[in-house]
Amino acid sequence: MTDFKKIISHAKEYGFVFPSSEIYDGLSAVYDYAQNGVALKKNIRDYWWKSMVQLHSNIVGIDAAIFMHPTTWKASGHVDAFNDPLIDNKDSKKRYRADVLVEDYCGKIEAKIEKEVAKAAKRFGDSFDKEQFVATNPRVVGYQEKINAILKRLGQSLEKEDLADVKNLIEELEIACPESGSRNWTDVKQFNLMFGTKLGASADSAMDLYLRPETAQGIFVNFLNVQKTGRMKIPFGIAQTGKAFRNEIVARQFIFRMREFEQMEMQFFIPPGTQKEWYEQWKQTRLNWHLSLGMGQENYRFHDHEKLAHYADAAADIEFKFPFGFKELEGIHSRTDFDLSSHEEFSGKKLQYFDPERNENYVPYVVETSVGLDRMFLAVFSWALREESLEDGSTRTLLKLPAVLAPTKVAVLPLVKKDGLPELANQIVDLLKWEHTTAYDEKDAVGRRYRRQDALGTPFCITVDHQSLEDKSVTLRDRDSMQQERIAIAHLPKLLDEKLNIKNWLKKI
Ligand code: ATP
Repeated sequence: MTDFKKIISHAKEYGFVFPSSEIYDGLSAVYDYAQNGVALKKNIRDYWWKSMVQLHSNIVGIDAAIFMHPTTWKASGHVDAFNDPLIDNKDSKKRYRADVLVEDYCGKIEAKIEKEVAKAAKRFGDSFDKEQFVATNPRVVGYQEKINAILKRLGQSLEKEDLADVKNLIEELEIACPESGSRNWTDVKQFNLMFGTKLGASADSAMDLYLRPETAQGIFVNFLNVQKTGRMKIPFGIAQTGKAFRNEIVARQFIFRMREFEQMEMQFFIPPGTQKEWYEQWKQTRLNWHLSLGMGQENYRFHDHEKLAHYADAAADIEFKFPFGFKELEGIHSRTDFDLSSHEEFSGKKLQYFDPERNENYVPYVVETSVGLDRMFLAVFSWALREESLEDGSTRTLLKLPAVLAPTKVAVLPLVKKDGLPELANQIVDLLKWEHTTAYDEKDAVGRRYRRQDALGTPFCITVDHQSLEDKSVTLRDRDSMQQERIAIAHLPKLLDEKLNIKNWLKKI
């Protein structure tokens, strides 16, 4: 996998992600999506939206406002409980999330396990059985037990709000500040992550509001409106994509953790008592969605939560192997009836459903799937970027994006800028642009133009040459194999449709 710095600079150089307000030297941990980035992001969002809303007759979408009535956040528990434990290093004056310091420490032990596994795999060759090795090798078993014990204690201390013990744990593990190397820590404190703002012109009539820290609450408060106007029958889901804001203690790792980010969430309303089955089902469906993009099964794993949020009776993350290790990409949460019941209590309005099969009224239970769009962007982008050594000894930079997500699907290149080749190339653009995002490029030698499209992730290049004028054929070059085949212009739409139509990707879920 490519070095992280390389990923960030490639994202900038090829117009995917820019630092925000760069002419003023940027704003820490805030980013803008550029001309290619916005297309990749939109394609990811569409891929999610189609798989959720278009392909499920019992899931509908909404787009709620970012501002919500402030009582929403009392009911949801965010005013009281949306905190992260923070700790400062007195020497470097750097601030950290205490739980992340401990988790990173475990990550280092995990890296040792991976090293042992790699060593053993080399030693035993084909007869190597990874599962057996991990379960029986004393050193690996010892490492794993240590990780489990640390995470269990962290989970329990956070659950009990025993922040002194979280600090004890950091001290016992002798965790040092990555910046200063010192172990001179402050006490651990809770820090609320919501951004406050004001609505209204005059100081005395202004209302204190929060920028929403998750999109989910916009769905809960609209539950009855959607159920009634859409005549929805349980089980049914409401999906939404949109911005969320969190005043993260440490926003870092590029677009992995930002203070302004976008979520893609779906709340699935179900009868009480059926949450276990639906939770398992959505875990699998969501994993299948990720796998359909072809980025390798070995790069995903589930992480079941020890510490549950105040609203959940089960929760798991789908983790992805980012350049800095396995980290959360998506959360699947069984939220019980916590949110709707709480909104009933705070609003005084009934948020219940009459179930004709059970012949009773109840507050539905909820299973939620929640994936960060920016984090998904980073997963796809970091997996796709690679340096390839070619047979002739040269290297090429390749952005091997899943074709369905690529910002530009096809680039049409006239071999030379004369003899009527640009005109024919433009006719081909006009033929294809209705179905696919199509680029035209006539600058530089054709080899350099191929390299540029490889680095942009364009799955196909079509080259128009002199023979094209005679027999109406072109060459079609495949980004990954670099194979070129001669093909009649008339056959292009059908062939490209087979490779690029979103339907053929979604069918794999
Ligand atoms: P983390 O443990 O990384 O802080 P979380 O468990 O608080 O994340 P959720 O509240 O479950 O995250 O949010 C659902 C998804 O939203 C996450 O899986 C992640 O993809 C995304 N997400 C959450 N916080 C951020 C952020 N600050 N920047 C970018 N994406 C985020």
